[in-house]
Parts: sequence; structure tokens; C-alpha cells
Amino acid sequence: MINKIPLASILLFSSLCTPIVLADDFASCVLELKTIAKKEGLSTDTIENTLGEVNYVARVIELDKKQPEFSQTFDNYFSLRVTDKRIKEGRRLLQEHHELLSKLTEQYGVPAQYLMAFWGLETNFGSYKGKMPVLDSLATLACDPRRSQYFTGELMKALQLKETYQFDASTMVGSWAGAMGHTQFMPSAYADYAVDGDGDGKADLWNSTVDALTSAANFLQQLGWQRNERWGREVTLPKDFSYEYVGKNHEQSLIKWAELGVMKNNGKSLSTPDMSATLYLPAGYQGPAFLGYKNFDVIMRWNRSIFYAIAVGHLADRINGGVSLTVAPPKQDNLSRDRVKSLQAKLNEKGFDVGKPDGILGTNSKLGLRAFQRTVGLVADGFPSEASFDALGVQ
Ligand code: CA
Repeated sequence: MINKIPLASILLFSSLCTPIVLADDFASCVLELKTIAKKEGLSTDTIENTLGEVNYVARVIELDKKQPEFSQTFDNYFSLRVTDKRIKEGRRLLQEHHELLSKLTEQYGVPAQYLMAFWGLETNFGSYKGKMPVLDSLATLACDPRRSQYFTGELMKALQLKETYQFDASTMVGSWAGAMGHTQFMPSAYADYAVDGDGDGKADLWNSTVDALTSAANFLQQLGWQRNERWGREVTLPKDFSYEYVGKNHEQSLIKWAELGVMKNNGKSLSTPDMSATLYLPAGYQGPAFLGYKNFDVIMRWNRSIFYAIAVGHLADRINGGVSLTVAPPKQDNLSRDRVKSLQAKLNEKGFDVGKPDGILGTNSKLGLRAFQRTVGLVADGFPSEASFDALGVQ
């Protein structure tokens, strides 16, 4: 969907770019981009009005290279995003756009509160959409060798958007990585899924709320949104629960979850037993537990983050009048990468092979940690709790 550019031209163009982009290198890289744009069928006018005036932005590469020093805990992530203020504003906007949202729900099958939740999480309902010139950002990233193929594809899509809708290049602004408008669509999503909801002839995701919400509904439908199904829900687990069932590789039907003693967070039995679901414990066994349904996976196709998917789902519930989490996420400081590296090194030392320590707690690290936790009598949830750090002798 994203890249339709011949591989040969990518290779040719990539080989001309060095890691440190000097003015001459950028200029020659832009020449290559122009050649690719021509092959993509873009007009000389479009090419000259965009790539002819594009600037290298060193800050974009700095931001792209910046490795986060800490990995954020669920509590910190969640409490910054699902706020009372945001819930209140989401409810207000739900009323304000009631007529449009009803139509979108009918046409695309996505309930209004989810559209409000995506809008709220992406740009705080349009209040910060990003101000960086998208063509500059994308050209800069396309001329950096690390992900040049992806960003060259996105740049070409952005040029097509400009040509299709006759946008003024200076009005195409967004995040440093090129995400645009109320719902922060990358150019490929914009080109493939944006809809002219208000019928003025342009899908304008910056200035038209109607276009942006219609496009979000269309995008979600195309990503596979299941009409009449929830995102998932908070659940309670029985006291003797075996935590090896956590995670995507233990997806199973609601009837199986019910047999294991999993209940709704209001104490009632799970319903619709023919649906399959995955168990998530974003803050370990002492935090809230969630079952994610098919629409949880759809949300993760929008943004590949479990925290994000839970935040969207829960914010949607709250905007729709739902109650707050039954189990509050335990307070925990963000984990430094160095501390996680030490934990990984210790696990390796003790024979739980988790691969080269990189400071990121991935699937292998969680499995290794879980195996270690079992051997020392800790709850084996694979969560880097303080008790686990203590047991490993990591400060
Ligand atoms: Ca429009």
C-alpha cells in the first residue's frame, strides 16, 4: 500500500545518500527524488513547486534518532492521556457533532465514542496538529539512509495529495514524521482512506472536522472494524490465576476465559462466548487486566501499541458514560533503559537467555523474566516489578 516505487530506483537513490547529509548530498538526493516522482507520474509543475523548494531539516533527524531514555510505565502513559478534562471535552463534542456521528456510525459501523477517542488521543480534538512542513520532513527522512524507502514512499504519496487536491505546499504541516491533520494520518493513509465528508471537493484533514471524522471512520472500517462489537473490556482474574495466559500467543474464546474464572470488572459473567480475546496486563498482576477483542487488533493497526489501544478503548467507554478502571494502575517510575539492560544482563547471567541487552523489554525478555520469576516464587507475570529487580540483584 505504501511503496509502489521500483526497487532499482530506491537502491540507486539510497546509495547516493550518506549518513551525514551535507548540503550537496541533500541536493543530489533531491534530484533523485525528482526522478522517482517523475516515474510516479507526477507533473513537472508539482515536482518543481515541491521538491524544487524543499529544505533539509536537521531537527527532524535528531528527533528520529532520539532514543527514549526511559520506557514509560502504563500508569504514566494512561494518566496523561485519559484525563477528566479530555473525557469531558469528548462528551461535549459528542453532543456537538451528534448528527454527523450518527450518520458515520450507520455508514461505517464505528460508534461515535471511538471516533471521539481517536481524535482526543491524536491531537486533543484538533488542538495540536503539528506545525512542521511535511514535505521538508519527509524529504529529509527520505534522504537519510535508515528508513529511506518507507519515507520516500510517504513523500511520493504527499506529492500526489498536493497534486490531487491542489494544496499549497506551505499549508501541508504536521508532526516531524509527516503525520497530518486532526487524526494525524500519514500521507499513504491520507491518500488511500481520506474522504471528502463535507462535499467541497477536497478531503481536507487539517481544516474540516467533518472530513477528518469521516476519514477516521472510513479508515477504521477498512482496517477491519467489527460493527456491534466492543474494543475489549477490563476484567477480573481469579486469585489462583496462571499468568502464562497473558499475551497474543494465548488468544482464545471467551468461553475458555470464562472457564478460567475471568469475569467482567462489574463481577458479572462474560457474554458472547464465541468471540476470541487476548489477555493484557499492562502494569503486571497488581494492575488492571484487560481482554482485547478483534477491534483491539484494529486499533493496533492504527497505532501498534498495547497502551494506545487500551487508552482508546477506555477513553471511548468513558466518553460514552462508562466508569473509571476498577483497579487503578500501580504507581511506578518510568524505567530507564540502563536499568532494563542490567535486568536483561542478569537474566542472561542466570541462564534465562533473553538475547543481547538492549534496554527494551520485548517478548523474549518478558518470557525470560517470567521463567525467572517462577524459579524464585514470584508471581510469573513477566512484568518488571520492583520485587523482580530486587530478586535479580539489580539496583
Ligand atoms: Ca471537504
